[in-house]
Amino acid sequence: MAIQGRNCIFCKIIRNEEPGEKIYEDDDVTCIKDINPASTHHYLILPNKHIRNAKVLEPQDSELFDKIVATVDAISERLGLDPASIRTGFHWPPFNTIDHLHLHVISPIENMNMMKKMMFNPNSYWFVSTDYVKSRLEN
Ligand SMILES: [Zn+2]
Ligand SMILES: [Zn+2]
Repeated sequence: MAIQGRNCIFCKIIRNEEPGEKIYEDDDVTCIKDINPASTHHYLILPNKHIRNAKVLEPQDSELFDKIVATVDAISERLGLDPASIRTGFHWPPFNTIDHLHLHVISPIENMNMMKKMMFNPNSYWFVSTDYVKSRLEN
């Protein structure tokens, strides 16, 4: 069992010690609503295990990583999101918001303002795509 972040807000939400709007949870991942939505739909997919960020993921986390990415399809199907208009990605250190790995899922992209589009631009130094993280895990 991994050591959970003692004062980590996301760990507390996962353990139901802090309120958070969970829309999905299983043994490996939890999906919550972002409290500061960038569009109509904005969710965070968290590993239940405390992993600081996408940069510290190791090859042995590969399966968990795939599960996080697969959860995007599961929730978007459940919520009826348009697959063509979903923005996903991870913060890249040192530009973390909360030090517990979370995949942002935002939809529809058209409803994001300029500022949010910039903040969640997966081709930037501060926010990266799932493919980028996956390729790092494989090398
Ligand atoms: Zn945590
Ligand atoms: Zn974030």
